[in-house]
Amino acid sequence: MTKTVDRRDVAEVLDRIASFMELQGEQPFRVRAFRSSARAVDSLAKPIQEAIDDGSLARSKGIGPSTMQIVREVVTTGHSSLLEDLREQVPPGLVDMLAISGLGVAKIRMIHERLGVDSLPDLEAAAREGRLAALPRFGKKTAENILEGIASLRRASEYRLLHHATEEARHLTAALDQLPGVLRTQVVGDVRRRMELVQELVIVIVADVPPAEVFRRLADLPGIHELAGTDERVVTLRFAGGSSAQIIVTTPVNAGAVLLEATGSRAHLDQLADHAQSKGFTLHGAALWRGSEFIATPDEATMYRALGLDTIPAELREGQGEIEAAATGALPDLVEIGDLKGLLHCHTTMSDGANTIEELALAARDAGFQYLGVTDHSQSATLAGGLDPELIRRQAEAIDALNARLGGFRILKGIEADILVDGSLDYEPDVLEGLDFVIGSIHSRFTMSREHMTDRLLSAMDNPYLNIIGHPTGQLLMARNPYPLDLDAVFAKAAATGVALEINADPHRLDLDWRLAARARKAGADITIGADAHGVAGLANVRLGIDMARKAWLTAERIANTKSASEFVSWAKRRRPRAGG
Ligand SMILES: [Zn+2]
Ligand SMILES: [Zn+2]
Repeated sequence: MTKTVDRRDVAEVLDRIASFMELQGEQPFRVRAFRSSARAVDSLAKPIQEAIDDGSLARSKGIGPSTMQIVREVVTTGHSSLLEDLREQVPPGLVDMLAISGLGVAKIRMIHERLGVDSLPDLEAAAREGRLAALPRFGKKTAENILEGIASLRRASEYRLLHHATEEARHLTAALDQLPGVLRTQVVGDVRRRMELVQELVIVIVADVPPAEVFRRLADLPGIHELAGTDERVVTLRFAGGSSAQIIVTTPVNAGAVLLEATGSRAHLDQLADHAQSKGFTLHGAALWRGSEFIATPDEATMYRALGLDTIPAELREGQGEIEAAATGALPDLVEIGDLKGLLHCHTTMSDGANTIEELALAARDAGFQYLGVTDHSQSATLAGGLDPELIRRQAEAIDALNARLGGFRILKGIEADILVDGSLDYEPDVLEGLDFVIGSIHSRFTMSREHMTDRLLSAMDNPYLNIIGHPTGQLLMARNPYPLDLDAVFAKAAATGVALEINADPHRLDLDWRLAARARKAGADITIGADAHGVAGLANVRLGIDMARKAWLTAERIANTKSASEFVSWAKRRRPRAGG
């Protein structure tokens, strides 16, 4: 079975060993050795068992014989005796503290030794009471950052990012699909509704054997630590690595009602129950009833149809008017991945990307796209290798040469220009004139006041070369809050000037947030979906961008990169001053 221990679990164990050793004051070279072996395991391109069997893991850099022994132990038993020994010796709260950004091992040891703090609640109390700030080299600011770090750690432990949850769900369903008696499986809950943060993994199993029978077989899956029953058709699986998933079993005849109930959201289900009642039905115990008569719902479409509704896509089930729309045939024709003709926003080796223009272009072409908008960083982003005008000229030549070779596929010349503090873009008009399109993004000075930040963005939109505001709020999920902005003013100005707002599909950003993207849509602003790829693998981000666009009720015509390459370029250039005019 596949969902046993995978490379990520093993890498995590090795990384933990490194942290424990570091906290114990172990020699730095030993700590570094474990960290690099964790990285080596995590970047394996094949299943870990295979890499052990064919000897490729033993040959990889940073993996010595003692590490191999640990890896074998973790893969066969699900745990590491070394890690368990270390766990006995180090207070677990100290390891939790390592996850707080800005709090390194030296500081943690000092906090522990001087204040006797050995848990996150203790740490929080010490920060609030001013005991941390009084330590040498700490100060008030550090104490505040630590409090902020504890808060975001709390958020992080409750939620996981959508792309991680999606991958976990895929592994798990692959294993569940193999169980005897399982007809099909469906990922439901937050993952199916494509929520950017997922609280719980939930999977529905449609089975032709009793739930108890399914549960018995589940318990035999390798890597399962515990089965915690909540009722006769629901069970919580806990895995050896600490993660968990809820499994709901249903019979085929009631699958529609169960899938609906398990997919949510609460708001959608409450409104659906009200609607059902107005039609003489009741939703009760994850089944549909008319009086005392059970109504069979083998799938969700049957269920919605019985209630006089069009089938509502899972992404729209947030109680935002979708039931009224489904009752009147007014559900939007949501954008799909196949509508997207161009991939926008990617970084190449000329700034901070991992692949060349050609590698990205070929990957985009193979994925079925018609064009690729290359947008490296601009000159003030010196750390990210931003391009000066001379490099822009050279990149343009390289793109012309590639376009001559690539036949039907087209590479567009773009830039991700920094929006400077005064709202100006990072280049003079004569440089921007040579490009096909321009993204403007804020990458610095996030702490400006709401008023100044809003002015900064509004005045950027007056630049006739700007086409797209990149990651408009600057949020990093579970890591950085959006900067303060008067978003209504931004959306109105975007609609008035024809500057599009990006749904940045980097799984850590997903910015605009889908709730905000819906507001931008209502305000009349155009949207683009940007991969913000820093390598070939990142091009696949756009799927998450499509998910967010669908949650925002967006149709293809509202998204600028569903246009053909030439339409997109004329769209981009329509704001520019006419030559000689
Ligand atoms: Zn950016
Ligand atoms: Zn970028």
